[in-house]
This record gives sequence, structure tokens and C-alpha cells, in this order.
Amino acid sequence: MNISDNIKKFQEDLPEDIKLIAISKTKPVDDILEAYEAGQRDFGENKIQEMTEKWEKLPKDIKWHMVGHVQRNKVKYMAPYVALIHAVDSLKLLKEIHKEADKNGRCIDCLLQIKIAEEDTKYGISAEKAKEILDSDEFKKLDYVKVKGLMGMATFTDDEAQVKKEFDHLKSVFKDFKERYTDMKILSMGMSGDYQIAINSGSNMVRIGSHIFGARN
Ligand SMILES: *Cc1c(COP(=O)(O)O)cnc(C)c1O
Repeated sequence: MNISDNIKKFQEDLPEDIKLIAISKTKPVDDILEAYEAGQRDFGENKIQEMTEKWEKLPKDIKWHMVGHVQRNKVKYMAPYVALIHAVDSLKLLKEIHKEADKNGRCIDCLLQIKIAEEDTKYGISAEKAKEILDSDEFKKLDYVKVKGLMGMATFTDDEAQVKKEFDHLKSVFKDFKERYTDMKILSMGMSGDYQIAINSGSNMVRIGSHIFGARN
């Protein structure tokens, strides 16, 4: 199967209300163009410099998703064009995104990354911490940044019951947040290895890399 066939297969198989983000990190622009020509418009990267180089070279109707950990001093490079920042984990970072969005005359959509995995190598914050941020007066003053939902990564394991437990937990947090806050619409969970479990648990945005572009080196 080539990239184009892989995209078409996802277009056929994924329920309509589930958004596919093609994670193109480390892959060349020609690979992205092949997916683009098959109709894919949302792409995700985890390094700002790499994403910006690709944004410069590729069609401007591509929506670029930053799925990696973001350092505050790099926000300015993606602020002119980024569509959604998936892994926000602090009020400080939200403030920086707000500031750079304002400079660019736009509003930037974000997700808060909730830590659901048992491994402690993963980024993210607790649901309690996320509520603290969203309830703070400081956050409410940030007009140019919108928190549109939550993102999470499950433990990297073959134990499907464990993965399901973690995704189910995030889904229940999301449900609670939807009732408390406006704008909560996106639940970004599921990668190549676990997206079917994520969808069964209620994900509406999946981030697929290797199942589209092949293994990364
Ligand atoms: C790399 C990456 C993905 C895609 O991983 P695959 O296993 O190749 O599908 C998804 N989400 C994040 C945050 C990533 O860094």
C-alpha cells in the first residue's frame, strides 16, 4: 500500500465525525503532497522548525497541527499559521500563545494535554490542574487563545485493557469538561497502534503517522 491508498482507506473506514490528522514528522514534503493529493488537509508535526519549513513549501490550505511538547520561546515561529496546538500543559504557555496570536491578529486554538498513561515519561497535567487553569481569572483574560478540548496519550503497551482504561478515563474527564466549559469540542486520542480502542472510547480526533507514511527511522 502506498500513502495515497492508506489515506483513502482511512477516509473510507473512519466514521464521518472523526477527524484524521496525518502525522508527517520526519517525512519529506513529497510524502505530504501525496497525502494532500488524496484529499488529506490536516497534518501534524512535533517540531516547530520542521513544521515551519514544511508550511513554507506546501499548499497554504493545509491545516498544521502541533502535536509535540512546545517550548515557550518557539511559539512565535508557528503563531502566524498553526491551526491547533495539541499538547498545552501550563497557564504560562497559554499566555505566550495568546501574546503571539495577538501580534499576528488571530486567535489560536489549543488542547490541554491530560496525563493518562502510567509511564512517567509522558507529558501532560492532571484533570484537576486543567480545571485550575480554566477557572483562573488570568486565563479568562486571554482573548486570543481558545481551549477547544483535550488530548491524551495512552501507555505504550500491548495490554489493550490498560489502554482502554486510560482512554475511558480521558473520555469521562472530557464529558465533565464539556459540561463545565464552552468551546470544549475536541477529544484528540489515538495513534496508529491504538486508534481503534480510542475511537471505541469516544475519541473524535485521531493522530496517525506510521499507518499512513510507513515506519519512521
Ligand atoms: C508521532 C506521534 C503520533 C503518531 O504516531 P504513530 O504511532 O506513528 O501513529 C501521534 N501523536 C503524537 C503526539 C506523536 O508524537
